[in-house]
Amino acid sequence: MAERIPRTPVREQDPEVRARNFEEVCLGYDAGEARREASRCLNCKIARCQQHCPVHVDIPGFISRLAAGDEAGAAEVIARDSSLPSVCGRVCPQESQCEGACVLGIKSEPVGIGKLERYVGDWSIAHADERQVEIPAPNGRKVAIVGSGPAGLACASDLARLGYEVTVFEALHKIGGVLVYGIPEFRLPKDRIVAREVEAVKRLGVKFMTDVVIGRTMTVDDLLDRMGFDAVFVGSGAGLPRFMGIEGENLNGVFSANEFLTRANLMHAYDEAYDTPVYAGSRAVIVGGGNVAMDAVRTARRLGAEAVIVYRRSEAELPARVEEVHHAREEGIVFRMLTNPVRILADEQGWVKGIECVEMELGEPDESGRRSPVVKEGSNFTIDCDVVIMALGTSPNPLIRDTTSGLDTNRRGCIVADDNGATSRPGVFAGGDAVTGAATVILAMGAGRKAARAIHDYISAGSQDN
Ligand SMILES: Cc1cc2nc3c(=O)[nH]c(=O)nc-3n(C[C@H](O)[C@H](O)[C@H](O)COP(=O)(O)OP(=O)(O)OC[C@H]3O[C@@H](n4cnc5c(N)ncnc54)[C@H](O)[C@@H]3O)c2cc1C
Repeated sequence: MAERIPRTPVREQDPEVRARNFEEVCLGYDAGEARREASRCLNCKIARCQQHCPVHVDIPGFISRLAAGDEAGAAEVIARDSSLPSVCGRVCPQESQCEGACVLGIKSEPVGIGKLERYVGDWSIAHADERQVEIPAPNGRKVAIVGSGPAGLACASDLARLGYEVTVFEALHKIGGVLVYGIPEFRLPKDRIVAREVEAVKRLGVKFMTDVVIGRTMTVDDLLDRMGFDAVFVGSGAGLPRFMGIEGENLNGVFSANEFLTRANLMHAYDEAYDTPVYAGSRAVIVGGGNVAMDAVRTARRLGAEAVIVYRRSEAELPARVEEVHHAREEGIVFRMLTNPVRILADEQGWVKGIECVEMELGEPDESGRRSPVVKEGSNFTIDCDVVIMALGTSPNPLIRDTTSGLDTNRRGCIVADDNGATSRPGVFAGGDAVTGAATVILAMGAGRKAARAIHDYISAGSQDN
């Protein structure tokens, strides 16, 4: 019986070896392994996995094709709902989405849906040159996209497929948003995966303008009023780091996770061939417990530091993906749970020499439903370290809000948009982290796709009026 087949283990780099390199940790399934894992799927009538996928990929549909050896068919099924399968297969929190709902998981292990999606995505990339890309006839309408992260890329692809002339404006010199500047190479290879998914968007005819900061180089108002764009989609993410506001955060050796990871990833600081300075110290303390904290701590480890996570709640509340925490532990990361920093200590030259913390205990649940951490009085202690990296979350940069007339934002600085991405400003749509605050790749991609449909409806309705 199908459910008796154990889950196919995925090959990974040895933890001792990978803790010293930036190559991908997970090596993925080969064709035989993928087919075997696909054969475990029960093909449930009511596909709970699909219901729990934020973009409702037809999971049984692609897995059944894969089980039959039809990779091209599997790729086609996924492409209906997801434009970034190789990325999502690697970084989605499957344990709380599709795999968390898999019926097989009730009594044994769920189907490895993420690893199967990754396999199909990688297969598509490898066979991209064999496929004809159908570019529709231009419909004469122009849409501008601000930001080239998953939200912007997804919106751009869908609009290009509808015949729009699409231009993506990106502040950085590389395309991909957090996929290139945040998530490290060892989780998401840049040239082999991200650049190839971006290539697929370019093949649809989408134009990219890098090093253009909307709100500085030109504004959203300029795009609409002077440059002839019929609509604008804002997918500018949430790249503004938060700090704790404790003593010592201005010392040399204190970084936001964003800055640290951007230097390491986007500027190739880990690669000796590049001159980008990055300093991980001999012992780095990373404050936080999300995916960003895990990426920062594992990067610091690979750069040679002893790396420590300091998190104010317990392991059960860690927001990071289970797989990332597991990998971090295997790589020798030290976890100091129920611990909160109160100040950062300086040496005579103004460099970090330690971080003073207090022990915490869990009290009553707060509004998020999680038990809130309470300080244990008199429990202060110091961890010696020379680098502190703050990974406490991010919010949207206020630049677009401050330079776009009639664009409402909420008290967290996020753009206010309805379910389809329509904002308070006619013709301006938004989605992804810029609207939700820091969230996930799949949600950003889903928001970009919904907004593309809404933009199409908006422009089509306007054309009829004209
Ligand atoms: C280190 C890290 C690890 C993460 N790990 C995971 C994970 O494992 N799984 C997961 O699902 N999610 C993860 N996330 C979250 C996920 O990456 C984001 O939710 C997602 O990338 C949001 O997509 P987006 O398109 O809204 O924004 P972004 O990816 O942030 O892209 C926004 C783009 O807009 C550009 N931009 C900003 N302002 C302007 C402007 N004024 N003009 C022009 N361009 C502008 C930015 O440079 C950027 O390229 C992680 C995030 C980080 C930082």
